[in-house]
Amino acid sequence: MANYKTCKECDAGLLDDDIAIYRKLVHRGADEFLCIDCLGKQLGCTREKIERLIQYYRESGQCTLFR
Ligand SMILES: [Zn+2]
Repeated sequence: MANYKTCKECDAGLLDDDIAIYRKLVHRGADEFLCIDCLGKQLGCTREKIERLIQYYRESGQCTLFR
C-alpha cells in the first residue's frame, strides 16, 4: 500500500527530500519509502553522504525530483 508519510522500516516521518532521494537512488516509481537513516543503512553509506547528495541535486537544479 502506498505510504508517503512514514518510513517503511522505522515509521519515522518522511520529508519531501527523503522521498525525492529515495526515488532518485532506489526506484523512481516507488510508493513507499525509507527515511534517510534507513536508506543509508540499506545503501551502506552514511546519513551525511545522503544529505550531501540531496544538496547536490537541489543545487544542480537539473533533477525534476528536487524543486
Ligand atoms: Zn527509517
